[in-house]
Amino acid sequence: MEGMKSIFKTEEHVFIYPASGTGAWEAALVNTLSPGDRVLMFETGHFATLWKKLAEKLGLKAEFIEGDWRGGADPERIEAYLAEDKGHEIKAVCVVHNETSTGSVSPIAEVRKAIDRAGHPALFMVDTISGLASLDYQHDEWGVDVTVSGSQKGLMLPPGLSFNAASSKAMAANKTAKLQRSYWDWEDMVGPNKTGYFPYTPGTNLLYGLNEAVDMLHEEGLDNVFARHARHGAATRAAVRKWGLEVLCATQGQESGVLTAVKVPEGHSADAFRATTLEHFDMSLGNGLSKVADKVFRIGHLGDFNDLMLVATLAGVEMGLKQADVPHQAGGVQEAMSLLS
Ligand code: PLP
Repeated sequence: MEGMKSIFKTEEHVFIYPASGTGAWEAALVNTLSPGDRVLMFETGHFATLWKKLAEKLGLKAEFIEGDWRGGADPERIEAYLAEDKGHEIKAVCVVHNETSTGSVSPIAEVRKAIDRAGHPALFMVDTISGLASLDYQHDEWGVDVTVSGSQKGLMLPPGLSFNAASSKAMAANKTAKLQRSYWDWEDMVGPNKTGYFPYTPGTNLLYGLNEAVDMLHEEGLDNVFARHARHGAATRAAVRKWGLEVLCATQGQESGVLTAVKVPEGHSADAFRATTLEHFDMSLGNGLSKVADKVFRIGHLGDFNDLMLVATLAGVEMGLKQADVPHQAGGVQEAMSLLS
């Protein structure tokens, strides 16, 4: 619990579920909201869309600010939307920090400021399932009420643990929230001494792993971890530019250090290219999801990852592009190596 507080950068409550990230998404909503509550979400990509669908299934009125999947959430549009809600019917603003389907990062601290400028009391919820422990994240400093995360990305573990970090405002909302909950209920997990309690069998094996992961992150130093991923993101983008391809994230400064989504040229299939790369080089690249299916492939550079692993990955992509006859210029790997050295 203490270790995870240091990763979320919070002094407040952390809850650990033996569940995938989707469970922690649900937990965030059912612990703080009531049936029919309006919830504002921003369409950053596939995962924001899935969170919205989940909210609708729970009986919430989820509203989307539409996005083009080429950047993070826009604080100004959130501020304008909230300013229209004079009666403060919107009870939560939900944003995905690192949108894993697009490789774009939302400016969380700026969204907080936008909510404050609108003078709106909505809870602020953030999904940093793929951002935590790879990108800077500050639950308390950024004024987030509920943060959602999972074990299988920057925490370098298998899937199976997920997390909520909750502010005192969120804990207060828990007292009056009427959505049905049992397994996810924070109240049962605070425990008699308020330091955290497992009301059912915890994911014991994964918790041992989590202890190690937290130690590894602090041994390297969180800032060094973030710098390593930022550098790998920059080297990957340098390779993509050299290949003459386009990075899906088109908003400068919001490109992710966790992964890079790359557009294939019009008329070419990203999935055929991925299949060729898998077959010839035994390297599995991430696929494009829903709106960008077959249009992009994704290069992951998160978690336990170093320069050599990145260069090998980029070599696999460059050889795959050639093998699959995707038009490109050679030299992307060299470009990345120059940047890394
Ligand atoms: N949110 C984001 C940003 C994700 O990347 C994922 C999974 O990749 C999820 C939510 C859903 O988490 P899970 O698949 O662990 O249920």
